[in-house]
Formats: sequence, C-alpha cells, structure tokens
Amino acid sequence: SCIPERIELCSNRFLAAPSVPPHFNSSNSLLSLETLSLDGYFSFENNQYAAKDFGNRYHFLPSAVLHPKSVYDISSTIKHIFQIGSGSEFTVAARGHGHSLQGQAQAHRGLVINMESLQEQEIKVYSGELPYADVSGGQLWINVLHETLRYGLTPKSWTDYLYLTVGGTLSYAGISGQAFKHGPQINNVYQLEVVTGKGEVITCSGDQNADLFYAVLGGLGQFGIITRARISLEPAPKMVKWIRVLYSDFSSFSQDQEHLIASRNSFDYIEGFVIINRTGLLNNWRSSFDPKDPIRASQFSSDGRTLYCLEMAMYFNPRDEDIMNQKTERVLSELNFIPSTLFLSEVSYLEFLNRVHISERKLRAKGLWEVPHPWLNLLIPKSKIHNFAQEVFGNILNYSSNGPILIYPVNKSKWNNKTSLVTPDEDIIYLVAFLSSAAPSSTGKDGLENILTQNKRILEYCATAHLGAKQYLPHYSTQEEWRAHFGSKWQVFQKRKSAYDPLAILAPGQRIFQKGN
Ligand code: FAD
Repeated sequence: SCIPERIELCSNRFLAAPSVPPHFNSSNSLLSLETLSLDGYFSFENNQYAAKDFGNRYHFLPSAVLHPKSVYDISSTIKHIFQIGSGSEFTVAARGHGHSLQGQAQAHRGLVINMESLQEQEIKVYSGELPYADVSGGQLWINVLHETLRYGLTPKSWTDYLYLTVGGTLSYAGISGQAFKHGPQINNVYQLEVVTGKGEVITCSGDQNADLFYAVLGGLGQFGIITRARISLEPAPKMVKWIRVLYSDFSSFSQDQEHLIASRNSFDYIEGFVIINRTGLLNNWRSSFDPKDPIRASQFSSDGRTLYCLEMAMYFNPRDEDIMNQKTERVLSELNFIPSTLFLSEVSYLEFLNRVHISERKLRAKGLWEVPHPWLNLLIPKSKIHNFAQEVFGNILNYSSNGPILIYPVNKSKWNNKTSLVTPDEDIIYLVAFLSSAAPSSTGKDGLENILTQNKRILEYCATAHLGAKQYLPHYSTQEEWRAHFGSKWQVFQKRKSAYDPLAILAPGQRIFQKGN
C-alpha cells in the first residue's frame, strides 16, 4: 500500500478499503462505531465519491462516511475515535464540497464526514448595525448568497466560484477580487463553532478562545471541524459594472493594478489574468461584453503576444447609475491600458458572483469538468513579481497555458496575521493561480505529465531565485517541506496541533502530521 511519501506514485487509481462493512472489524478496531446513537448515520458502502475531488488525481477510499445531522453526531464520533487512542491509525477528514486538488478532504481507510449533510440547518441572517449570518460549516457559499440577498445583504469577501463550502474555504483563506479591500474570507468571520480533535464543541472568536479561532482560520483543517460560522455582511448592491481592458506590457499592467488597490475609492473588485498565445479572444468576449469602441476593437490583434487583462467591477444600484458611470470613467482615465481594448458589461450582482458557474456548465456539457486539475497557486511578494513574470510568462510558459492564469495584487495590511494562513512577508502580495486542466490520456503539451513538469519548473524557479513565494492551497509530501512553508509560524502551528488534535486524527489528506507518531 502507499506510504504518504509515495502517494504521488499511486495517485491514479482507487486504493481499496478493507472489505469488511457493515461490521468493520479491521485493524482499525472500530468495531463499536455503529453502536453510537446518532441523529444521522454512517454509510459503509458506495463511498467512492468520497475518494474523489476536483483535482481528480488522488483517490483514497475511506472505510466509512458519516452523514451528520447535528454537531453532536460529529463530536460524539470524534470523541469515540479519540478514546480508542493513538494505537489505531484511524483518521477523520471533513469533506466540504470535495473541491480539493490533491486528496486533502480524503481519509485513506478512515472516516470521511460529509459536511454537506449539515446543510439542512437553517441559515440565520441578522440585520442591524453589524449584520451577520450564522451558517453551517457544510453550507455552500451560493446558498449563503441566495439567503442573505433576501435581506438585501451579502458577505463581503468571496471566492471566484461559489459551489464551495464555508468550512472548506475558511480552512484555506478564500481569496478573490474583493480581498484587496476586505481581506480574504477568513478576515470576515466573527465567530466559529468548532469540534476539536478530542471531540469537544467549542465556540470561539477574536475575544473568546481566540487561540483556537485564529488556529482554525486558514488552518488546513488541522485543529477542528468548523460546524458553524458567523459571517460578516454588508448591504448588497443590485448591479455590477464589469470591465476588462488589455495590456501588452506587464509593467503597465501591474502598475495600474497596484494603483487601483491603493485607492479606497476605486473599484469593488480587482483581478487580472494572463493571456498566452490566444487568437480570437476578443471575439469570444463579445457574447458577454461590449467593446467601448467596436471598430477599433475589431481591428485589434494580439499577434501572438502575451497579453495581460485587468478585470474590474464596480457595484451599484440602478438609481445611482449616473454617479457610478462618472466614477468609473474617472478611475479608468487614470489607467494606461490599450485604448481599443476597453470592454464593458452590466450584470446583476448574483450573475457576477456566480460567473464561474456558467463556465462550469459549458465544460460539463463537453465532458471537460471532471478531468485532472493540476492547479498551482502561489503568493508572490510585490518586490519580486517582475522577475517572476519575466521568467514564468516569458520563458517557462512562453508557448501556451492549459487554463486561466490569474494574477492580482492584494493589500496585506487588511489581512489579520494572527490566522494560520502563511503569506510572503511584504505589504503587497500577488496571487498567481495556474488553473490548468489536463486533457485526459494526452501525453502532449496539454497532458498531465507536461503540466506537472511545468509546475515543478515554476516552483524550482521560485526557490532558486529566492522569491520568498508561498504556496496558497499548499501541497507538500514531507514534514520538512511543511516546516519550511510555515517558517516562523511552524512552532505555533505544531503547538496548536498538540493542544487541539493531539492524536493527529483530523485532515490526514493534508499530510502534515501522521497519526500514531
Ligand atoms: P474540501 O475540498 O471538501 O475540503 C478542503 C479541506 O478543508 C480538507 O482538508 C478538508 O478536510 C477541510 N475541511 C472541509 N470542510 C471543513 C470544515 N467544515 N471544517 C474544517 N475543515 C474542513 N479558493 C480561493 O481562495 N479563491 C477562489 O477563487 C477559488 N476558486 C476555486 C474555484 C474552483 C473551481 C475550485 C475547484 C476551487 C477554488 N478555490 C478557490 C479553492 C477552494 O477554496 C478550496 O479547494 C476549498 O477547499 C474548496 O472547498 P470545499 O468545500 O470543496 O473543501
């Protein structure tokens, strides 16, 4: 069987769990699990879905899946496993929407907790001066959005895609084009309810059990299972002006991005992406965006150059449309994009936030959603972003990319550094996301092996050039690498692990700590 260091080698097939259900009686000595009296239930068969994720490269079958109906189900199950002690290798992975990339929500021969079955718990919205929503950790962000909009309210900080769970994104950070202004999602939470690795149910916040609160935020599922979160809200706009412009020069592009995030009075959302060797792109945009100058836009040709697209959004309500248009024009006049490439669109706030779902539907229809996704996400300090762009976009990827490459800066001063999230040590950092899809069974440029080799070259470059980069949604094989990732935060991380999950029961798919060690 696979030992953790060799998981990569065994990654493309399912690893069978012991075939002992329903009374599984393996070396894991969990004979009595089914004797627990729960509101929900365990399933011991047909659990293959729990051995899959969006990355579609790692497949570890659990021995059982818990479908909790209450927090009590989770706490009594974990308490039970904790009491069995370190003699057993049995581990527990909370599974949100299973949109991990390298098996992080899987538990080989262990127990997966299907957090979405907690979703049935109501989303409670509180208006008032500091509005908030109380939501289950297994709730999808799309549902949180729908419910809060009914009250004219909305969470402030998002991910680009909303079919992810609250507990899943809070275990990383939750970064999108609003993070420059509001910080990531982990900075927009007032309170959590957490079940620790000992089975205790603890309510925590910045004032109450603060150590656990900050440990869990960005904590890669290592310290507890988030069963409830209190999310900060603001009044929701009705509409969004959505704008794309192009640059052929990285310096002007990044300078403008940095200019925009420095000013509070600019856009509500700022992202950007790299376009490598794509022709006909502007024609594709015409279905959803209008060129400001249709004639000149139709004459624009990329000539095979690498282009940089700055993407911005301004929120507004219809009665304020004129003011919004004036503001937009003023801010755009401060930028140095290629004038013929100004594209504009107006969509509802819901449509804007849920934009990736449209791509998902198209890709699903073509059978291209459930392919391997060897994604690489990096945080690069501003001082090194030019070196990075030159080497990566100009050399390593100068021919093509296999999916979107996002790149945008955020102000770290808006981020709370007490959380477990690790970032480069500078005030402005760039998120660079290589969101590759591999063509199934291709051995060419669009094949998995080639993309993994490219990712490796990018990581090697970051290391040898001492960029001070950090992986976002990090993935490593050895504890040495994890130590290096956490740097000065490692000791605290380790100390919190011994305090809240001393037997290393939780989130084994992150491969940071091993149970029984
Ligand atoms: P899962 O994959 O189910 O779990 C992730 C990890 O968290 C696992 O280790 C799991 O054990 C743990 N976990 C799950 N639920 C809980 C819980 N309740 N308590 C404690 N631990 C838990 N990220 C961004 O920041 N910004 C983006 O814009 C963005 N866009 C994305 C778009 C797509 C299409 C995809 C697939 C991913 C994207 N991500 C983005 C990454 C995403 O935030 C993570 O993959 C996240 O983990 C997905 O949530 P999930 O509910 O599927 O979590």
